[in-house]
Amino acid sequence: MLALIFALLNQGSVLRYGEMSNDNCVAHIPFTAFPSVYPRVLYQECLDLQPTINKLMMCIANDADFINETLGPISQVDDFTRNLLSLENTVRREGRAQSLISCINRSDYMLDKIPGHALAFDSLRIRQVEVNAIASAMSAHSQNISALQKFLLSKYNIDTPKRATFPKNESLDVVVNGLIDAYDGYGKSSAQILLIAEKRSMNFSDQIIIETEIHHRRADIKFVRRSFDQLPGCLRIGSNKELLLDDLKEIAVVYFRYGYDPTNYTFEGSWETRLLLERSRAIKCPSINFHLSGAKKFQQVLNSSEQLERYLSSDEATKLHNAFCRFWSIESEQSPGYKMVTSANESLKLVLKPQREGGGHNIFGDEIKSFVRQLADPRARSQYILMESIDSPREHNLLLTHGDEPSRESARMDNCDQLVSELGVFGSILATDSSQVISNRAGGYLVRSKKFGVNEGGVAAGYAGISSLVLFEDDPFLYYNAD
Ligand code: ADP
Ligand code: MG
Repeated sequence: MLALIFALLNQGSVLRYGEMSNDNCVAHIPFTAFPSVYPRVLYQECLDLQPTINKLMMCIANDADFINETLGPISQVDDFTRNLLSLENTVRREGRAQSLISCINRSDYMLDKIPGHALAFDSLRIRQVEVNAIASAMSAHSQNISALQKFLLSKYNIDTPKRATFPKNESLDVVVNGLIDAYDGYGKSSAQILLIAEKRSMNFSDQIIIETEIHHRRADIKFVRRSFDQLPGCLRIGSNKELLLDDLKEIAVVYFRYGYDPTNYTFEGSWETRLLLERSRAIKCPSINFHLSGAKKFQQVLNSSEQLERYLSSDEATKLHNAFCRFWSIESEQSPGYKMVTSANESLKLVLKPQREGGGHNIFGDEIKSFVRQLADPRARSQYILMESIDSPREHNLLLTHGDEPSRESARMDNCDQLVSELGVFGSILATDSSQVISNRAGGYLVRSKKFGVNEGGVAAGYAGISSLVLFEDDPFLYYNAD
């Protein structure tokens, strides 16, 4: 009940669950009662990396040879990668009609306990989990939950650690400004922003809050939200390659909040619609080349300072590489990754990932060995990357979900959950296809906390709740569980 009451006060941070009786019924988004404690220096490190990550994504997006070289082998065994890559190559061969490319991304990190160190201030480091280059969600809820948790701390007179501070959360600003940058880059005042959603959007309120915020700042910008499956038959390309919706509305920006998973392309005309969008001069956020730059395979291939230096300065490359986990390919039977997995006698502290987004696709720990063994064809193994497992400290907190009975919720107040958190930092970039940067924005964050022992993450996927940050400078073992 507590969760529901406060969520209702909290500016519409709700989700529409599958089991709700109709589409007008919603429940509060899962959230934690208290903010997550985080070392200030490590938070700053994540923020400081974001402009470099924006730049790296842009450089990958503009390097067609590197995209083909990296994803080509995977496209031979994975239909989804093949379809995306074929879109990219078609559009590039024909000449990209859009003059500017745009991407709103979110780079996710987890705290990692440095092996061999007792839990103390300098025994933690950040490790990047992934970069989401399409449909990076939750920016609106993140800003709302920061405000809610500050209110709860004050209402219940809960002391925060000495010298602790709450960083300003500008997550919604970065997303909204990124879209406005792209809109202005298109340069036609009567054109509109088109948000592409799923048919029954669970997280529709995050999208509506973005639309409302754009309206508050720029009432001149018209915003239209359509589900992907509504689009066939409603779109056409005009004589100047402009994208026309319902025959008359010119679209300046196409903002994808859907279209990142093979299941999004099961209706008739889905791939033809994506191709039509890509062929138009509307600025896609992200365009197909930016979408591909978020493929997890790039994390493994660019996993050294030397590799990163093909796009970044040596200083940028070193700093970014410091936040990376170790990765391996498992394609060849002779590769260290394949050998490590198949010959392991002890528990594997590893995660195996296919080229997918949105949660629920990874294989963790001891399940990896038998999974890899049944992939006899090396080409089938090329679509997976093997990643070192991140060992995050546990926090005491309370995860409030809509499934909690009010009586159980209050009983749990006395008995804290053990949670593990993932920090995402938002960024947006607008550039030319020869990598001249028009705008590079960074800032704002999302914290998602899940129960310790749960492998997967994600709020919409049902594993985690939204939290916010309280930054501290003294010893974290005061706040983390030492086990
Ligand atoms: P997705 O695109 O499905 O979000 P992620 O790479 O973000 O894929 O992985 C999903 C979740 O799995 C993450 O949110 C995190 O909770 C967990 N996870 C991913 N990689 C690791 C890792 N190396 N160590 C520990 N947990 C991980
Ligand atoms: Mg993720």
